[in-house]
Amino acid sequence: MTVQATPPRVRVIGAGAMGAGIAQLLATSGVDVQLADVDAGALDRGAERIATQLDREVTRGRLDRAAAVSALTRIAPIASPTSAEPCDVVIEAVVEDLKIKQDLFRGLEAVVGPRTVLATNTSSLSVTAIASVLDRPERAVGLHFFNPVPRMRLVEIVPGVRTAPSVVDLAEELVRRTGHVPVRTADTPGFLVNHAGRGLVTEALQILDEQIAGPVEIDAIARDVLGLRMGPFELLDLTGLDVSVPVLESIWAGFYAEPRLRPSASLRGRLLGGLLGRKTGEGFYRYEDGKKIVPASATVGAVPLDRPIWTDDSDLAALLDASGVERDRGGEPGDRAVVLVSSDGASVITEANRRGLPVRRACGVESIGDRTTRLVLAVHPGLDPEVGRVARAALERTGRAVSVVRDGPAGVAQRLLASVVNVAAGIAQARLATPDDIDTAVRLALGYPTGPLAWGDRVGADRILAVLGGLLEQTGDPRYRPSSWIVERVALGLALVDSGTTPEDIVTPSEE
Ligand code: NAD
Repeated sequence: MTVQATPPRVRVIGAGAMGAGIAQLLATSGVDVQLADVDAGALDRGAERIATQLDREVTRGRLDRAAAVSALTRIAPIASPTSAEPCDVVIEAVVEDLKIKQDLFRGLEAVVGPRTVLATNTSSLSVTAIASVLDRPERAVGLHFFNPVPRMRLVEIVPGVRTAPSVVDLAEELVRRTGHVPVRTADTPGFLVNHAGRGLVTEALQILDEQIAGPVEIDAIARDVLGLRMGPFELLDLTGLDVSVPVLESIWAGFYAEPRLRPSASLRGRLLGGLLGRKTGEGFYRYEDGKKIVPASATVGAVPLDRPIWTDDSDLAALLDASGVERDRGGEPGDRAVVLVSSDGASVITEANRRGLPVRRACGVESIGDRTTRLVLAVHPGLDPEVGRVARAALERTGRAVSVVRDGPAGVAQRLLASVVNVAAGIAQARLATPDDIDTAVRLALGYPTGPLAWGDRVGADRILAVLGGLLEQTGDPRYRPSSWIVERVALGLALVDSGTTPEDIVTPSEE
């Protein structure tokens, strides 16, 4: 879509963190902005915040002085949010309260022209509910910016059930004008980003609840094996449970207790007990002077590598060979060999039994993800501890960090990734957003190295399906039922990012 020549006149209501950021972004993109707030002091502080931020942009060489000055002149503070001053688009960024937003929209509808678009920056309320009080709900749309607005390039465009298509187009055009990236998503709980983000955090909580591994290990695996910038528990601590528990609960409840989005029963207690995260000095980690304290991991001391290692994982075998670890190269493990098993979506016990390997001498090694900095060793209850110590020492000999976790229905990295992909696939299947928009949104707003659908393709959709299948079989938990989006694409050999043929594709023009 091309950006129209004349910029619309925009009113931003609420001069807090978001409103000031939105006004700054629009003004630096050549848009004239009326800035309003119910509180005159807040309006002054908002205007000051914009001036300071623009100054900082100049100091950092990201904006030239003339552009900053002209951006400032484009922002006109106005006395009343419901002033009759003409404008084409209103973006409200007032407190997150349905009644306040509805009252504001109703007040605006009485004073602005019939064609003025009313946009809401709500992050958790229904756009449809906010618009429901309007005489013309088709003029309302969600325009969900992220904090801090100038830096976070993604903007969710959220039509309510009655929003006119032309209003959605206009909202998208306004976002494009700023250089930010619009994605379209349905007006469902969490919209796109917060919904897609449930995959990682809820599975991490599930793994913790099963005591497969603790927060420190799960975070290390998320970072080192999956390549995420931050582990799920570091993220929960950063956001604070006071913010994330209501979000987790409302999205899960909003989808009528969808098991894929289920949070953990342990969170309420942590919240009530004040373990909120960084802001209270203790969450899943402790913080001293704002610094995270990571408990030192236990060391095994010098363990003689007095048994050979047997594995049929060729990459792992090559790694062990390069590190000078003695291997049992037989077709089957000899009597003293330590057996290392890798599989997608099976516990070590299941896999060893299936393959006729000696279970008491078998440990698991994570099959999915990057093995250049960390290896994950899984230990089951029937393992000979002596064998486990040698297995760990052998993996440490490769120079990698080693996470030791309990055996489970699938590896920790596998479970985190499969959940991320499955939740994204569910969004695609329900057509809440397009595959492209899902991947773009997650990359830009959550900072994942790859969009979840493309990530599933890179690892192999069949492997993701195997992990989900194994989890479903062993646990019976419907949380792990694979989305039809994955099942169909694996059966057809289609990529997860590919929408394939839809009924719309075979409607002839005369039937449209
Ligand atoms: P904030 O508290 O920093 O600012 C809200 C401003 O709205 C205040 O200045 C307040 O005086 C003003 N206000 C309150 N009621 C008003 C009314 N009736 N009319 C005019 N002004 C009024 O809040 P924020 O963090 O900027 O969030 C604003 C909105 O953006 C909320 O809906 C929030 O959910 C959403 N949001 C916030 C974030 C975030 O990370 N902070 C991210 C995305 C979306």
